[in-house]
Amino acid sequence: MGCVVFTYKDLLLEMEKFCNFGVETGNIGQSVLDQCIPYVFVGKKGGNCLVVQGGIHAREHLTSLLVVCLAKHLVKNSHLLVDGGIYFVPMVNPDGVCLCQQGVDFAPHLAKQLVKINGKHGKDFSLWKANVRGVDLNVNFPANWGKGTSNVFEPSWQNYVGQHPCSEPETKALVDFTNFVKPVATLSYHLKGEEIYWEFGQTGQRLERDKRLAHGISRYTGYRVCTPKGSVGGYKDWCVQSLGIPSFTVEVGSDKFCHPFPYSQFATILKQNLDLPRRLLNSVARANKA
Ligand SMILES: [Zn+2]
Repeated sequence: MGCVVFTYKDLLLEMEKFCNFGVETGNIGQSVLDQCIPYVFVGKKGGNCLVVQGGIHAREHLTSLLVVCLAKHLVKNSHLLVDGGIYFVPMVNPDGVCLCQQGVDFAPHLAKQLVKINGKHGKDFSLWKANVRGVDLNVNFPANWGKGTSNVFEPSWQNYVGQHPCSEPETKALVDFTNFVKPVATLSYHLKGEEIYWEFGQTGQRLERDKRLAHGISRYTGYRVCTPKGSVGGYKDWCVQSLGIPSFTVEVGSDKFCHPFPYSQFATILKQNLDLPRRLLNSVARANKA
């Protein structure tokens, strides 16, 4: 591997630490290969809540470390939460992350078909984005599913929409979990570009509200607010379209760097996002009251 990366095993150790510290932890469901998808909740139950997720694209495992560190920061500063709390789901795609970091040694029984799906990359899985069935989880949500400009319709290392919306257990788990906790907003971390996406067909007051919130995120992080580029079927898209809540995809990390994205940039990224979840929850709560 050469460089130090944040692994699924590291995530499980961090979850244990949260638990030992008295912070609520649990699982939102299981992956294709039956690995648990953990969450941690910081704050008080019963009030407004936010869902923050990362690691839905395998090669973006740096965002899993980011989400864990954001949760830790909030544990230390939970007195600043006005009301409610935040669910952090650091690694929605644990199988994909393991495959990306370990190659086919992670799933020897699937080696032949995974190498085939990986196409031109052969045995190098460092750019892999999908789960182990070659489905890109962030185009597998029921929001204009299959109508994206980059969608593909057979298993691939990226952009395959799956056989139907929510065909994958990881997608289904995040949808069910979101329906269960009923967040007032969601925040999805991706790599890279230092960009914020928020629009998915909202109109009227919701459009104005979500635009204002996106610009608030931009002022805090220094990232730019972007207009949609024909991508559909993502978690943010489903939250906006089906739940009517403000939802944001934040692409962290400068475009100066290439994938696999260097962890040397992690400190900068953490600093840019450190208090964003708490600020966003408070802003949404205020906007909904007004
Ligand atoms: Zn991504």
